[in-house]
Amino acid sequence: MRGGYAGPIHLVGEETVQPYERPPLSKAHLEPGGEVAPVPIDGQGLLQTSGIIHYPGLEGSCDRPGRDGAELILSNGLRLAYGRLVLATGASPRRLPMAEGLSGVHYLRSLADAAALRAALARGGDIAVIGAGFIGLEVAAAARAHGCSVTVIEPRDRILARGADPYISGAVARLHRARGVTILVSTGLSALRNEGALVVLSLSDGREMRVDAVIVGIGAVPNTAPAAAAGLAIDDGIAVDKALSTSDPQILAAGDCCSFPLAVYGNRRVRLESWRNARDQAVQAVAILSCASPAPPPVPWFWSDQYDHTLQVAGLVDEGKTHVCRDLGKGAFINFHLSAGGVLVAACGFGPGQYVARDIRLAEMLIARRATPEPDALASAGVKLKSMLVT
Ligand SMILES: Cc1cc2nc3c(=O)[nH]c(=O)nc-3n(C[C@H](O)[C@H](O)[C@H](O)COP(=O)(O)OP(=O)(O)OC[C@H]3O[C@@H](n4cnc5c(N)ncnc54)[C@H](O)[C@@H]3O)c2cc1C
Repeated sequence: MRGGYAGPIHLVGEETVQPYERPPLSKAHLEPGGEVAPVPIDGQGLLQTSGIIHYPGLEGSCDRPGRDGAELILSNGLRLAYGRLVLATGASPRRLPMAEGLSGVHYLRSLADAAALRAALARGGDIAVIGAGFIGLEVAAAARAHGCSVTVIEPRDRILARGADPYISGAVARLHRARGVTILVSTGLSALRNEGALVVLSLSDGREMRVDAVIVGIGAVPNTAPAAAAGLAIDDGIAVDKALSTSDPQILAAGDCCSFPLAVYGNRRVRLESWRNARDQAVQAVAILSCASPAPPPVPWFWSDQYDHTLQVAGLVDEGKTHVCRDLGKGAFINFHLSAGGVLVAACGFGPGQYVARDIRLAEMLIARRATPEPDALASAGVKLKSMLVT
């Protein structure tokens, strides 16, 4: 956690609780019989034992960045001089302006959000999910487990349009429909209002829906305010280079809040909202602060659990021009995406349990190597992906 650094480390966070894992907020925490108990990031209480000074419930902003006497000012007025500063401010749910001020409308980013949402799902009734991204669909699955009647409303022509390929979208949509979820694609929202305890949705096709609760899952925006106020370069998040340095070399940024050049795709600038990227960039930042030169995380990887199925994506699907499908049996499959030159650039897998996990891991290694496997071999479950790593 300290990476060998013996000096003082201050951790400032505006949330009032110890740092916790967010993925369970839309999974285990929402399950019937589960509970919204934080899963601490430092599972073994390392925060206490490592002597890191934690300032919960306080917002930080920079004063005199890039100049002598640069300090972090805390919202209680405390000033902390820093040698190096890491901005890991994350992201916030994108708000739906027409929902402002209404009751019965939920977002999901924090423990408090999960507790409120869980209580709403436990009451049952009709639920509308606005946005068919990963969080919206995980919440839809949890709502069905509570016996709610669920409608997902998505303005694009397919679900998961941002993170997965159309074939995965189709399979995930079939799973949700089989579990009783109504999915409305190519359907926008023209108005929202309260009617007593209900929320009334006016849809772009003229229909009206009355529901007990609405969950808005329309993406996240990076928390760049402290960086922007400090005059740092912003480009879809706090812009950093491959060593996580912002435009002020004293300040690094990591995780959901930053965009960075991804070497495996010719330094295309990306911003990832994924657990593993946040963890890997944290590890990279610690190494950099300890004067090492670690390799940046090589290939993006993301997972989502819905019902008893898992979806995993390695690489960026939109880098692909063609794809081949490998059927793994038991309803599991992986789509391999290849560039025009035949380079494996992404792999998208979906299936029950952990069926796709091993092959996605191997695909990730092939993507990192810019491998050019034979499409026929990729499509054939009889050819082990591991054998392609040896060539
Ligand atoms: C419901 C949910 C489910 C998810 N599920 C998955 C999943 O299945 N798979 C996956 O790969 N990823 C998943 N993710 C994404 C993953 O959790 C994030 O990528 C990860 O949390 C990012 O970590 P971070 O530290 O960059 O940002 P965050 O976790 O957002 O932490 C940033 C912290 O900084 C604080 N902060 C912001 N500004 C300031 C300030 N000025 N001063 C002080 N503190 C500040 C914020 O309050 C927050 O506590 C999920 C996310 C959510 C919300």
